[in-house]
Amino acid sequence: MSDPAITVLLVEDNPENREIYATFLRHHGYEVLEVEDGREALRVAEEAAPDLILLDISLPGLDGWGVAERLKDGGSTREIPVIALTAHALPEDYDRAQELGCDAYLPKPVRPRRVAEEVRRIVDPDPEPDPSPGGTAPA
Ligand code: MN
Repeated sequence: MSDPAITVLLVEDNPENREIYATFLRHHGYEVLEVEDGREALRVAEEAAPDLILLDISLPGLDGWGVAERLKDGGSTREIPVIALTAHALPEDYDRAQELGCDAYLPKPVRPRRVAEEVRRIVDPDPEPDPSPGGTAPA
């Protein structure tokens, strides 16, 4: 189990995806803050100072790219790790995520288990190796 004090801000406009990821992350011991649009994401990121942000790129209004840009520009949110999630991922999306300072990038559809692994990799960089298939154990 992960440290229950670790807070993940989940930014996802699709209610089903949000529910699935939130449920899975909570099951793994994370505290999860859920928001469904980019403006709200910026507000909560500043107010709640989460340990990590899981950021859907395709959002109504201010999209995930705009959110990432502002997060990494802004003083207090600058150091918060960001995992970008994109459907219909293109190779240039990966480059763009890197340029904007995102710490990881996951193409959708992505299994909740994979999301949780990536979260753990970032917030707990020195865990016990995960020996399961697709786990974090070195080959
Ligand atoms: Mn979306």
